[in-house]
Amino acid sequence: MAGEKSGIQYQCFRCGKKVYYEELTAMPELKCPECGYKILKKVRPPIVKHVKAR
Ligand SMILES: [Zn+2]
Repeated sequence: MAGEKSGIQYQCFRCGKKVYYEELTAMPELKCPECGYKILKKVRPPIVKHVKAR
């Protein structure tokens, strides 16, 4: 479905601002919306694990 967030986030190397991948690709340029820095690293979404206690 369009508009649904994938949960993938990128974090700015300079200011640490986290931006959703969809928000980044919606912009003409891949850069931090906060400070304009162009180097962003991918942030792994927290994986929810169901661990059963035995
Ligand atoms: Zn930034």
